[in-house]
Amino acid sequence: MQKLLIFLTAALLFTASQTIAQTPAVPSLDEWEVHDPDRPQPVVVTPGELTSAPPPSDAIVLFDGTHFEDWMHANGDAVKWHLRDGYMEVNPGTGIIQTKRSFGDVQLHIEWATPNSGTGQDSGNSGVYLMSTYEVQVLNSFENQTYPDGQAASLYGQYPPLVNASRPPSEWQSYDIVFRRPHFEEDGTLKKPARVTVFHNGVLVQDNVILTGPSGHRSRPPYRVHEDALPLFLQDHNEPTRFRNIWIRDLEADM
Ligand code: MG
Repeated sequence: MQKLLIFLTAALLFTASQTIAQTPAVPSLDEWEVHDPDRPQPVVVTPGELTSAPPPSDAIVLFDGTHFEDWMHANGDAVKWHLRDGYMEVNPGTGIIQTKRSFGDVQLHIEWATPNSGTGQDSGNSGVYLMSTYEVQVLNSFENQTYPDGQAASLYGQYPPLVNASRPPSEWQSYDIVFRRPHFEEDGTLKKPARVTVFHNGVLVQDNVILTGPSGHRSRPPYRVHEDALPLFLQDHNEPTRFRNIWIRDLEADM
């Protein structure tokens, strides 16, 4: 009987630890206020030369530099951003654009270049919003200081990049992002938070971090239940930032 109890207790503990391992808790970032200027600035790392990564055979090409067929504005209008020679450019004031398709877990490649103007948060600010909700910041962070959780490759308002691998403004840069979406219970409570890995110009800058919830300006709002797949947003922050070579791989089948 005693052996049976010991076995059952061990089995229960094992099951509990497995459950904990599979369901990471939402971290507390209380150590740092949102946009805390005293948070340490990431060390500067000069990236290697390569930027472009051609899409692999199973990728969905979202933008090849020739048309906006896979994009629209949030109200359904045709894209009013500029289509230039092989890239798109934010047309300030026209609003965010979003993919017509929706995605959950993805691998995303995107290239971008900021204008050579402005300072702080007003130097080429844009953003890659996974599931329309979770922002990987786009900004000129080359010799342009801002609060660390708002610089290029930050998970806006939550995590500064591990290092600052920025190139100068006007030069093309890349993000390679692995995003695992949040999961929700039937009643809308959080079952599993979202996780993000980011390479900036080939350098690891976000290592499977656990998001605290949606991105917010001066706030860290809690998770709100949403669909399992949502469009990708690109932000219009009133500056003519450019994007090219955008492709995505659907990882939902890998779960
Ligand atoms: Mg932004």
